[in-house]
Amino acid sequence: MSTDHRLTHYLVTDLGAITRGRGQWAAKGEPLKSGVGWVPINQVISPFDTIPAVNPWGSHGDCRLRTDADTLVDVTLPDGPDLRFALCDISDLTGADLDMCARSFARRMVAELEAEGLRLFSSFEQEFWLDLPGTGAATPGFSYQRAIRHEPFGAQLMDLLQQAGVAPEMLLAEFAQDQFELTMEPSFGIASADRAVISREITRAMAHQAGGSASFCPLRLSGGVGSGVHIHLSLWDRDGNPLLHDLEGVGGLSVLGQAFCAGIVRHMPALCALTASSVVSYERLQPHRWSSAFTCMGDRNREATLRICPVVGSGSTPPERQFNVEYRAADATANPYLILGALIAAGLDGIRAGLTAPPLMNVDPSDFPAEQLAAQGIERLPQSLGEALGRLEADDVLRAALGEPLVAAFLLAKRHEIEECDGMDADAVCQRYAAIY
Ligand code: GLU
Ligand code: MG
Repeated sequence: MSTDHRLTHYLVTDLGAITRGRGQWAAKGEPLKSGVGWVPINQVISPFDTIPAVNPWGSHGDCRLRTDADTLVDVTLPDGPDLRFALCDISDLTGADLDMCARSFARRMVAELEAEGLRLFSSFEQEFWLDLPGTGAATPGFSYQRAIRHEPFGAQLMDLLQQAGVAPEMLLAEFAQDQFELTMEPSFGIASADRAVISREITRAMAHQAGGSASFCPLRLSGGVGSGVHIHLSLWDRDGNPLLHDLEGVGGLSVLGQAFCAGIVRHMPALCALTASSVVSYERLQPHRWSSAFTCMGDRNREATLRICPVVGSGSTPPERQFNVEYRAADATANPYLILGALIAAGLDGIRAGLTAPPLMNVDPSDFPAEQLAAQGIERLPQSLGEALGRLEADDVLRAALGEPLVAAFLLAKRHEIEECDGMDADAVCQRYAAIY
């Protein structure tokens, strides 16, 4: 093989959270290309690689993947090959943001927040299924046995993630069989979503190279434990001061924090369409599984969709700098940029409307009678993707934030995905998604 050339992939994550792109063969030392050609209809290809029969583009249309050079990843898997890729926005042929680009939407929402003097500090905590050869029979949840049987994979993965700039923090054996969890350091702006994309691609590539597989799908077996993506969020000012915490406030939230969280709770049913975006997502969002199932906020309650996280008093970081809330009704079938942008839009709505804190739900909401929940304004999260899409369609705030072209493309893609799963039973749906994500 010629050694004076490199293959660099230019990548974009589509509305179904599949990262696709094109490889470019270029001489070593040649600067990263600023863009490569792309096709608008690619945004709405389903995870099953089918295209909605009726769509606005047909065989027509051209756009560009515009490289974000700051996201370049250049690492080598333990036994080769190189992974060299950069993340991109989608632009039209004039270079302007394509109106259905999810990453541009997230950047736009970050800018809107910054116009209010606020900066989003966030991190995606991701659970996934890891099947590697030779790891033997079942191992207990959270056990050291499981962690060790997956070495040296775990340490090699963390090393590669570090080299790739995603700032990995923890890799732990989770509760369910073959389940692991990866956490990364929080970051400002859209970097957390970039890190989610990069870490998934590296994890899957490494597992495949090791003769196994890694899947970030929400559920492998219906009725089982799910794999969630939990988004940890806090707001900071431009001078580096945290703004979410007030010891005296409801749940330890400042007035601003209460309004931001109330906005997220207010829009939860519609948010689900963008954060739990697939047919299988709703098999996971069930009561009593710590996945979240109701539109509520709770203080350190893992059944609440928005969880106020604990702070520790023993470390050197003061509580206000640790303080964050965790949005739990998300999974890896949702585009991370849509998740981030939509959470900002919902939170901003709460701030602009001056909302006060929603009631704190500190026990499992499914233990309450429906009337008591209704009296507190708490409802069940949507129970199917179709229901969630209907709620999104009816949510003027989220629609306006996304812009009609992105809403239309998203609804088209997702309704087509529902049709593709029509008639399948829950386990078949789980298996179908597990093989892809
Ligand atoms: N696996 C759970 C989920 O589906 C989350 C468990 C946890 O709190 O880490 O989201
Ligand atoms: Mg977990």
